[in-house]
Amino acid sequence: MKAMLLMRIVSLRDNPEPLTLEDIPVPEPAPDEVLIRVSTCGVCHTELDEIEGRTPPSVLPMILGHEVIGRVAETGERVTKLEVGDRVGVGWIFKSTGDDDENISDEFVATGRDANGGYAEYMTAHERYAYRIPDCFTDYEAAPLLCAGGQVRPETLRQSFASPERDAPSRFFRRHPDRRRSACLSAPQPRAPAPRFPVA
Ligand SMILES: [Zn+2]
Repeated sequence: MKAMLLMRIVSLRDNPEPLTLEDIPVPEPAPDEVLIRVSTCGVCHTELDEIEGRTPPSVLPMILGHEVIGRVAETGERVTKLEVGDRVGVGWIFKSTGDDDENISDEFVATGRDANGGYAEYMTAHERYAYRIPDCFTDYEAAPLLCAGGQVRPETLRQSFASPERDAPSRFFRRHPDRRRSACLSAPQPRAPAPRFPVA
């Protein structure tokens, strides 16, 4: 698969193109993970901090990107809540404890910093931290909402997507009153086009 890799910490002032397009194997999902075919991945300022070393990746090379939308392409053997074809999003928390303080826990693993993220054709994600996305959002609308996975607990994010009038997406619905929950439940969006990568 194609993936954009950060190979080393650099200054963006000196290296305006810090990521390298590589062909690497499609990852295998662990038993409690899903394999996601990525359609969209937002770009966050945190990635600049990763590239320049203010919050450096725990290993290099690393695939950045924590505002990921895609469809489940494969499920690990212990996955029970997601199925192949489900549209899901992955945010900043790749994996943690599941406790109330999981977003500040020492066991917190960050998507695209400590585990490969969404600047790739495929990524794996833990079932607990892959959120079903309501049909009323296009991939492009939903992707940046996933950034909130670092500031709010995953359970809140999950409930927000399940009840889109609550919490994080509520501002979206205030700005787009035509897309109230009923519209959300009844108007599936067309699938996003397949990802396009520049030819190396
Ligand atoms: Zn972010």
